Amino acid sequence: MISCLILGGGINGLLSALMLRQAGQEVSVLERNSTGRESSWAGAGILSLLPPWNYGPEVNALAKLGRALWPELAERLRLAGGVDPEYLRCGMLVLEPEHRELALNWCEQQGETVATPPASLARFRAPDSLWLPNVAQARNPRIMQALYVAASRAGVRIHEHTPATQLLIEGTRVIGVATPGGVLAADNVLVTAGAWSGGLLAPLEHAPDIAPVRGQIVLLKAEPGLLPCVIYRRGHYLVPRADGLILVGSTLEEVGFDRSTTARARTELLDFAYGVMPELRQAEIVTQWSGLRPGAPYNIPTIGRHPSLENLYVNSGHFRYGVTMAPAAAEILSHHMTGTATTVDVTPYAWRAR
Ligand SMILES: Cc1cc2nc3c(=O)[nH]c(=O)nc-3n(C[C@H](O)[C@H](O)[C@H](O)COP(=O)(O)OP(=O)(O)OC[C@H]3O[C@@H](n4cnc5c(N)ncnc54)[C@H](O)[C@@H]3O)c2cc1C
Repeated sequence: MISCLILGGGINGLLSALMLRQAGQEVSVLERNSTGRESSWAGAGILSLLPPWNYGPEVNALAKLGRALWPELAERLRLAGGVDPEYLRCGMLVLEPEHRELALNWCEQQGETVATPPASLARFRAPDSLWLPNVAQARNPRIMQALYVAASRAGVRIHEHTPATQLLIEGTRVIGVATPGGVLAADNVLVTAGAWSGGLLAPLEHAPDIAPVRGQIVLLKAEPGLLPCVIYRRGHYLVPRADGLILVGSTLEEVGFDRSTTARARTELLDFAYGVMPELRQAEIVTQWSGLRPGAPYNIPTIGRHPSLENLYVNSGHFRYGVTMAPAAAEILSHHMTGTATTVDVTPYAWRAR
């Protein structure tokens, strides 16, 4: 049986692990802390680009396939482990879209439905807003719990508190991965270390350009149902959960691996939230958090095999849309590692010589 060692237990590591395991491989995941506690926990779980017409075809192809695969994935995860990722097609109202005509043309060409907002959104009905009823969301901490259970039950071995400290290379192969407990070996090694992937691969030739980009979110508690859909306005959003929690996001900050939260971000996010929905001033501010996105140029992840090392793979750099893209990225990775079919042109994501 082919064995694979996966470095990093976020959504891309655990979903890749599940796919490879289901393809019959022996799979182990090394996670330096606990799985699913970094960017994959911190994200807002909007299953869409923000907004899609601002991105190139490579990014949209992954997001489109990811969105198509999410409903079945969420159901599979729920059935596999009993944890519901709370996938919900709640729709997204885009307020004050820049380049509205361009956006409408894009939606028509790409098959993204634009409709008249329902009566429940009448209070937001700015004349130029765009209602995208097919945009969905899922709840990050639940996705990660569900994935952990599904992967474990499928037979993936998950080693938490086990950092990979170095890749050991001999000739054209990775012969081992150093950890504080000793060297581990496998037929193939896959790097899914999120914002840390660039650093882990930096000692090797052709390391992909992946670096942390901090995002902060403020969490409010309101009455369930107060807000029925995602609201997006020029870089900021509100995401309502079924239990009345509302995520207010997010910032984009290049501050290295600093995961602090700041008063400035809190003010920026609350000003946006109160501007869009003044009644949120009455909502309890529950907490504020930050996460480090795996930033990559043009938001294009690297998915595939190292240009010269025959058993080293990467699935990382999904930047702002790693949850949306995860099922599509895992499908492409599986195509490279097990030969399964994919409908996506995989070339834009290939690991290129630098
Ligand atoms: C504020 C915010 C909002 C977001 N909103 C959305 C959204 O609405 N929709 C969307 O699609 N995406 C969103 N994202 C982006 C999305 O969350 C990320 O793209 C995605 O989670 C990346 O997943 P990952 O598995 O690649 O990385 P991570 O989740 O960061 O996982 C990487 C894992 O690797 C581990 N690791 C690191 N180094 C090592 C090592 N040396 N050895 C072992 N383990 C290691 C880490 O501990 C971590 O657990 C958001 C992100 C943030 C921060």
